[in-house]
Amino acid sequence: MSNGPTYGFDTLQIHAGARPDPATGARQTPIYQSTAYVFRDADHAAALFNLQEVGFIYSRLTNPTVAVLQERIATLEGGVGAVCCSSGHAAQLMALFPIMAPGKNIVASTRLYGGTVTQFSQTIKRFGWSATFVDFDDLDAVKAAINDDTQAIFCEAIANPGGYITDLDAVAAVADDAGLPLIVDNTTATPYLCRPIEHGATLVVHSTTKYMTGNGTVTGGCVVDSGKFDWSASGRYPSLADPEPAYHGLRFHETFGPLAFTFHSIAIGLRDLGMTMNPQGAHYTLMGLETLSLRMERHVQNAMRIATWLEGHEAVDYVTYAGLKSSPYNDRVERICPKGAGGLFTVALKGGYDACIKFVDNLEIFSHVANLGDARSLVIHSASTTHRQLTKEQQEAAGASPNVVRISIGIEDADDLIADLDRALAAASSK
Ligand SMILES: *Cc1c(COP(=O)(O)O)cnc(C)c1O
Repeated sequence: MSNGPTYGFDTLQIHAGARPDPATGARQTPIYQSTAYVFRDADHAAALFNLQEVGFIYSRLTNPTVAVLQERIATLEGGVGAVCCSSGHAAQLMALFPIMAPGKNIVASTRLYGGTVTQFSQTIKRFGWSATFVDFDDLDAVKAAINDDTQAIFCEAIANPGGYITDLDAVAAVADDAGLPLIVDNTTATPYLCRPIEHGATLVVHSTTKYMTGNGTVTGGCVVDSGKFDWSASGRYPSLADPEPAYHGLRFHETFGPLAFTFHSIAIGLRDLGMTMNPQGAHYTLMGLETLSLRMERHVQNAMRIATWLEGHEAVDYVTYAGLKSSPYNDRVERICPKGAGGLFTVALKGGYDACIKFVDNLEIFSHVANLGDARSLVIHSASTTHRQLTKEQQEAAGASPNVVRISIGIEDADDLIADLDRALAAASSK
């Protein structure tokens, strides 16, 4: 179908990017389980390899099933193009790859998924890249952290694990003033709750492993490009603006305009880094996306009810859900994620570390797993797992102190979830 801007989210999450299969008329998007695609003739092959014609060559670069998913996510986010990858972490590297070079840095929020803090504070150093972490509620600190070698600003829309909401408009204004692209990880919000591009984001990254797929079956990631950043203006982004020696001198920005980043990510990023999403994985995510809005509504409804209940429980010290009036982030909900603050938050127990361990061990419906954004309710004790590699200070700053448990509220019956939490809290409080 044409992606008419008049179609609503519920329609686009089912139809965007898809059309009846031209070969068979199949209504559901087929899983094109093929590595390669036959060229019409040698001229066709040459045109494809020269990027003069868009088409399928080899599934490390593009695959018809994955292409439908890319177009669907780009549409839902309001971007011009998207590239899917093998995981959310792969998507983050793919987002940075065209922008970064040895000696360059990014300015990143301290409130990030633990794995991202590790990726940015340790692993990217191997490429000669670095990250400076600052509190994104302190805009002066963000400004102060930017220097001549800064290439991008990075944050999460709703930050994992605490469910804190970033003031994207304010951060985008700082990025804009500095002439830098803003990269927003929208994993925990999804485009149903938050559309970062409307708040000034240049690129949006996703772990599609989470809510986008929504059933805990496959890992995946995606980078969506707004198409709005001028990669040639500053001379700071030679991979996109200057002649590319690995593509016989092609200038991506000049040649592909707003699609420069997307083309570069496929033609150079996937070609040479190979962090490709497979068509089976894309299929599961396409299935999940069809019900994204319905699921997110229930996640929000359940999270609101359960966070409110938890906040009143005697064993609970505090609850970080931004949907609660008590949250310092509550006044950002309406502006940044008007359909709700998501389904993810942390709960701090008065009994500290020991109570948290007993609590997660005594839950029945909630599973103790290193995942979030599933139809199932999940918990994890971040300090001993996802945020384990972080220093005490990093844990504190990320909202993953030893006395807190991260809760990802599923779409089960809220009454059953509350009863389960009540039993486990009683067990956690017993001596
Ligand atoms: C899970 C997660 C990631 C990493 O994604 P993977 O698919 O596990 O590689 C990145 N950011 C956030 C916010 C996440 O929750």
